[in-house]
Amino acid sequence: ATMPPLLAAVALAGRNGVLVKSGLMMERLAEVDAAAFDKTGTLTNGEPEVDRIAVLDGDEARLRNLVASAEVRSEHPIGRVLGRIGPVSPVESFAAVPGRGVRARVDGVDVAVGHPVLLEGIDHAATRQAVAEFEAAGLTVAVVIADGRPLGVIGLTDAVRPEAALAVSDLRAQLGSAPLLLTGDHGSAARRVARAAGIERAEAALLPGDKADRLAGTRTLYVGDGVNDAPALAASHVGVAMGGTGSDLALQAADVVLVGRRLTAVPAAVDLARRARRVAR
Ligand code: ADP
Ligand code: MG
Repeated sequence: ATMPPLLAAVALAGRNGVLVKSGLMMERLAEVDAAAFDKTGTLTNGEPEVDRIAVLDGDEARLRNLVASAEVRSEHPIGRVLGRIGPVSPVESFAAVPGRGVRARVDGVDVAVGHPVLLEGIDHAATRQAVAEFEAAGLTVAVVIADGRPLGVIGLTDAVRPEAALAVSDLRAQLGSAPLLLTGDHGSAARRVARAAGIERAEAALLPGDKADRLAGTRTLYVGDGVNDAPALAASHVGVAMGGTGSDLALQAADVVLVGRRLTAVPAAVDLARRARRVAR
């Protein structure tokens, strides 16, 4: 017996490491006219490295201890790395702040680690200067605050996936529109990654809900990886999640999962979906 073309395409995509959740989603994949990417863990390999640390109060050992303890339960690629930069003390409470960072109580100290917006209401010249310097270098910046006082600033880099530029150029040719980068990170880090991936349009400093707002009501395919991406994955015409280290929430919200974690599988899947639609008609 022959399978209906859309389901045959679902099966074929599966053999190539692309899990399309239904025939309907295969049909939607053929309708896509634009593509947007998340940055951390999607265009980048999601294994950031600490590039530099500015200690503003106390010593580096204590900074590393508080940061590692606060981040040890984080699912975010940045949090996973910071959770390993020092010894871990008992954590009394932990909360992820989506698109921002984490807050935790460690050894009786209230610790916040994350995006410089966490400094709101704290005016500290040396901290502001370190943040500006690290941002100008294109680094992703995490500030560390203990009991309301800035302790230090951490700058991280994240390598762009080797196949990102090829996936972007294939999608541009195929869809006839320039792919877009949507990130919660600041503009300079966004531009560094966009340039390396051949992306001309980048929107920075977006909260998870802002990404979803940009995508709702369009025929845009969105590729994301993390906990923070669930709203964008759900709002897009087709939400594609990176498999493997991606969070369970993202995998649930997605219509397509890149089990093989190769970005070039995205244009290949669009191509397959378009062929299947032609056969189906
Ligand atoms: P992206 O859009 O690049 O994937 P996210 O929306 O996941 O980024 O996060 C936005 C920003 O929030 C990051 O660039 C980082 O500054 C900060 N951030 C998020 N989670 C954490 C964390 N666990 N620890 C430190 N900083 C974080
Ligand atoms: Mg991400």
